[in-house]
Amino acid sequence: MESPFSQPFADGPTEPMLSVYRYVLETFPMLGRAPTLAETKRNLGLDERAIADALKSLEEYDALKLDPATGWIGDAYPYSPSETRHEVVFRSGKRVYCMCAIDCFYVPFLTGSDVTIYSTCHLCERAIEIQVAGQKVLVVEPSSTLVWDSDAPYDCPTTNFFCCEAHLREWRDRTPGEPGTARSLDGALERGRAAAVQIRRVLGV
Ligand SMILES: [Zn+2]
Repeated sequence: MESPFSQPFADGPTEPMLSVYRYVLETFPMLGRAPTLAETKRNLGLDERAIADALKSLEEYDALKLDPATGWIGDAYPYSPSETRHEVVFRSGKRVYCMCAIDCFYVPFLTGSDVTIYSTCHLCERAIEIQVAGQKVLVVEPSSTLVWDSDAPYDCPTTNFFCCEAHLREWRDRTPGEPGTARSLDGALERGRAAAVQIRRVLGV
């Protein structure tokens, strides 16, 4: 992944931007949702205006998306506030939805935690389970699982798991011209690692 952001943080993100972004990415996987305005104010000691400005700037970088209905945080890559077909479960039992198959692989690197990824084959809906421990893919069911990666840095509805090469091929036959790359799970893990490294560099964590 080139960068998880639509443009580099060239002008230097402001301190409120960084602290809001850091707080959102830390709390989202723990809560399974974005923090509320009240939680953000209380924990960061910022006023509403500073938080709103920081969120707007973060949206311009595609670090997150604001919900047009509420003006508050919607998606915060890799995390989704609403149910998706990709769920990541921590050892603690806490769970969070991710935007796409590749986004699931950000999580062990962003959080430093072992995780289990639950998803389904995009073609046949067969259940898929992947354990990532010690930042390695350890257990996969079914073992033939692979990823179709749309190669988009964000907005990735066509980035999905498939239970086997035959089902990926069948889906591609049905949707000719769909851009992307087939990846092994180790390849997908590397994409997640690279994106998380970029995010952590921006955050200084
Ligand atoms: Zn399948």
